[in-house]
Amino acid sequence: MTTPVAPHVSPSESVLQSVYEAAGRLRTSPEVVDLLRTSWREVRAQIPVRMESKRLQIFEGYRVQHNGARGPYKGGVRFHPKADLDEVRALAMLMTYKCALMDLPFGGAKGGVMCDPLHMSETELNRLTRSYTQHIGMILGISRDIPAPDMGTNAQTMAWMMDAYGQKYGYTPGIVTGKPVELGGSHGRDQATGRGVAVCMREYAAIEKANPRDLKVVVQGYGNVGSWTARLASEMGFTVVAVSDIKGGICNMEGLDIAALDRWFSVAGSVTGFEPAEPVTNEHLLEIPCDYLVPAALGEVITGENAANIRARVVVEAANHPVTPSGDEVLAKRKIPVLPDVLVNAGGVTVSYFEWTQNIQQFRWPLETVITELEKRMVATFHELMGRSARDGTSPRQAAFDISVERVAKAILLRGFV
Ligand code: NAD
Repeated sequence: MTTPVAPHVSPSESVLQSVYEAAGRLRTSPEVVDLLRTSWREVRAQIPVRMESKRLQIFEGYRVQHNGARGPYKGGVRFHPKADLDEVRALAMLMTYKCALMDLPFGGAKGGVMCDPLHMSETELNRLTRSYTQHIGMILGISRDIPAPDMGTNAQTMAWMMDAYGQKYGYTPGIVTGKPVELGGSHGRDQATGRGVAVCMREYAAIEKANPRDLKVVVQGYGNVGSWTARLASEMGFTVVAVSDIKGGICNMEGLDIAALDRWFSVAGSVTGFEPAEPVTNEHLLEIPCDYLVPAALGEVITGENAANIRARVVVEAANHPVTPSGDEVLAKRKIPVLPDVLVNAGGVTVSYFEWTQNIQQFRWPLETVITELEKRMVATFHELMGRSARDGTSPRQAAFDISVERVAKAILLRGFV
């Protein structure tokens, strides 16, 4: 018998679905819900770039500021061929709730440029980043909107953004987070999201009274989030059995040697070809029998179509929005818990918050302090969320939205927005 598949909903509709459900449970005022339905501001800009070929190419870029009731807007910048306005809008909404869930004094924003960074030279990426920053600079600010890296962008991108912003507005290291440490970045920002993911897995294993050594983990994506997740999970004792990147995946049910894989990756530039391991496709990787399945690459990879084939006991959302609402429905019916993105990948924005405060104070924390403070916040929020879920009989995702929508609604009312 095949599982009935719900119609495809856009990324922003699917975030809104969670918000509407939470607002219903919380009896949130309809006027507050009206404010949350749309973005506060959306900028769509033409980003002209002179390519190496001397041709002028016009890219399309966005910055979406969703809701700033709890503080300045905060969110990453994505360079990806599919980074369209609806996706960026959905990610901005998610940031509002992620920051609220972690109790960080930020609102939600996101940026994106529709481009293929894998097929652009360093010079082209530098020019693109500067052009983008120039076009959205007027809505940024250290107390207004603070970008960070996301898919396809990294510490170098943030260094270019900071420099481009500084050329117009003066030296402002706090304008972006996720910068290189040499330019005022925080120690530990690179590993922060992956560490948060690994901490969530460790805490969930403790609830299950399981020893990480007995738990098999599959990670899709071996970029910033996926590689740090695999590295730190492996250090915590989990058995990482499969990982992948855009070129494909590798699997060894006895466990992959992650330190050796990192050495391989630094030369080969891909996880593919690593031994001892069998090659697997990204589609098949999601269906490997395991304990914790960690999608850490793209959104919408677990859908109404393939959720019936997932053979993991738990799905841990390291990427943003990797499970569609119809995928969620199928997993719920199959009693496969999903630890939601707004919690699981919140380590990145948490250390971004630390970086921002360090820049404002012109002071730097040592790595140990960053790790300790991150752990404290991740563990506390994880248990607050799981406690709320147990108390209310809701899923972890529903509990996450209940906590965060409640906090955002409270700030909206206190400010007198409605
Ligand atoms: P990244 O660009 O560093 O890495 C992305 C990885 O996904 C790469 O290994 C890439 O090869 C792989 N990939 C790309 N297309 C793929 C495909 N079609 N199939 C399989 N793998 C594919 O990006 P990242 O920063 O690690 O972000 C990954 C996810 O985590 C995104 O959803 C992002 O929004 C989310 N996220 C990132 C951070 C952060 O701090 N970087 C914070 C929160 C959430």
